[in-house]
Amino acid sequence: MKLLEGKIAVVTGAARGIGKAIALKLASEGASVAITDLAYNDAAQAVENELTAMGVKAKAYASNAADYSDTQKVVDEIVKDFGRIDILVNNAGITKDGALKRMTEDQWDAVISVNLKSVFNFTRAVQPVMWKQAGGSIINMSSVVGVSGNANQCNYSASKAGIIGFTKSAAKEMGVRGIRSNAIAPGFIETEMTAALPEEIRKSWNEKIPLRRGGTPEDVANVTLFLASDLSAYVNGQVINVCGGMNT
Ligand code: NAD
Repeated sequence: MKLLEGKIAVVTGAARGIGKAIALKLASEGASVAITDLAYNDAAQAVENELTAMGVKAKAYASNAADYSDTQKVVDEIVKDFGRIDILVNNAGITKDGALKRMTEDQWDAVISVNLKSVFNFTRAVQPVMWKQAGGSIINMSSVVGVSGNANQCNYSASKAGIIGFTKSAAKEMGVRGIRSNAIAPGFIETEMTAALPEEIRKSWNEKIPLRRGGTPEDVANVTLFLASDLSAYVNGQVINVCGGMNT
């Protein structure tokens, strides 16, 4: 018996990177998977095809996670298509880094909307579904930067720290209905997001990591699987760092 047989999962921002790895990992344990991303483009379609080829039901949806009504619409469609939602992974996220003295209002607003408001949007829309089912697992993608801060990322770290507060509050509010909320705080993970960083920064990150390597999307997906499954049935309101020991 696979860990997630019969479960329905929603993963936001899953056309590439960590979200894609999570979608594939959940499917490998038998979950049906709805993925969202900004557009239904070649990348999203390729993930949808890969999931379907694994023998699970899968569908990709175009949805802007930062938009409240767009989110309600896509969650309604997913429930219509899949019947229920057992696992929600709030993964969509962006960076718009810069020194605080030069950070624009747009840089601030965009990162807070995509990273933090999206978590409210999706959790708000999915919560009545899980409440009716009397169960569910919500996993929010924070960051070590939300735990410890980082220069030139005031907007990003505020959004990721906000996710931690949201997660702990949701855990206290919805635990009574068997709905668990946890956050993952990845460290330096090799994806297109971090590939955009200058080489010397990437190198200096690796030197700071006790395990002496960046993480892989699969490293994060494995912890997501744990939190999505009943293996973590008594884990609620927690933040798990997946950072090779960088953040202790
Ligand atoms: P990525 O940029 O490779 O992928 C992010 C995906 O989210 C993309 O497919 C993008 O199109 C999608 N997306 C962006 N805005 C969206 C929106 N408004 N609505 C829907 N989808 C949207 O990033 P990644 O490295 O895979 O990161 C995934 C998550 O993990 C993010 O929340 C990120 O902050 C977090 N994280 C990443 C790292 C890392 O080192 N890569 C570390 C800590 C946390």
